[in-house]
Amino acid sequence: MKQQGQIREQSDLKIAHFDCDCFFAAVEKRDNPTLHDKPIAVGSDTPRSVVATACYVARIYGVRSAMPMVKAKTLCPHLVIVPHDFSKYKQAHQAIKQILQTADLPLKYDMLDEGDMDISQYQGDKIALCFALQQEIREKLQLTLSFGLGPNKVMAKIICNIEKPNGLVAMNTDEIKQWMKDKPVSLLAGVGPATATRLAKRGITRISQLQTADALMLMQQFGKFGASLKAMSLAQGSSINMQKRVEKTISVEHTFSVDVSNITQLEACITEFSHHLARKLHGRACKKIILKLRNRHFETITRNITLVEPIWQAEQISDAGVALLKNMIQGRYYYHVASDSQTNQQSYRLIGLGIGSFVKHRGSLGLFGTNND
Ligand SMILES: [Mg+2]
Repeated sequence: MKQQGQIREQSDLKIAHFDCDCFFAAVEKRDNPTLHDKPIAVGSDTPRSVVATACYVARIYGVRSAMPMVKAKTLCPHLVIVPHDFSKYKQAHQAIKQILQTADLPLKYDMLDEGDMDISQYQGDKIALCFALQQEIREKLQLTLSFGLGPNKVMAKIICNIEKPNGLVAMNTDEIKQWMKDKPVSLLAGVGPATATRLAKRGITRISQLQTADALMLMQQFGKFGASLKAMSLAQGSSINMQKRVEKTISVEHTFSVDVSNITQLEACITEFSHHLARKLHGRACKKIILKLRNRHFETITRNITLVEPIWQAEQISDAGVALLKNMIQGRYYYHVASDSQTNQQSYRLIGLGIGSFVKHRGSLGLFGTNND
């Protein structure tokens, strides 16, 4: 592992991934010094809410993002729950972005608090540049972010996590290959519990085993992703469309505090989600819309639709989402989700909307195409 000032050859450092440390919680602590040493979780204190972000103090108690708030409170009884204030987070995001933009390099955000800077063409000391940006953000905004500098986006993101918070790690391809050897396969993008189990059945648990595994066998077992696995294990992230693998879909979901059966209310959620998703397209359009519903029996159904033409406006995404909702609720899927025989009406505890199959913005209107579930 190489850090600032220790690396001599920088030509292999092409992407600087940045990620704000405990972003929402950090903004809240900055704006309210009485919270400074307290364990805090950002989210709402309702029976079904989940932790959006936990600060490092709360993490000592085992509190994690996406954990049910009820569980978080059990783990840490003196946890301070701070409600979201997205306008404040957006302001902080803008302020950070402005500082990063002073580098005058291509910048792309994936989320409010993380993204990539293309440093491939930067002629100066790339590590010193990121260090200076990090310092400026810390001094001017009292917020910290971590940097990972690597040969591609996938690897930069992985190494960005090594020294959080306020970390700065730079590694070239050979160093990453060496460092990853004894790490579990789950470190790699797209390797969730299911893939990890399938790999373990073939005796592969460590990245070093993927490095030496037969590429053809991996492709036979995992299709295109098998090739990605092999490439990632060798620290070659982007050669086989890893971007798509990393950000296949963008989604947002909401758990209701009381189950909802009213379709108008579900439609309203879709409309709200659509605006949020449209803002995340960043000049792209999408061809796939995904809708997720979880009923009161905790059964989850997810369906998607692929459009003939890509769409990018919130209204278009909303229209497609509502059409899918109606199809799911009123169409054949209605019977799939064990409807309540007494009321003959399904009620839902969660709704989610996602977009995927991203393409460059083409400027044409979307029309419905095939329904591929
Ligand atoms: Mg973050």
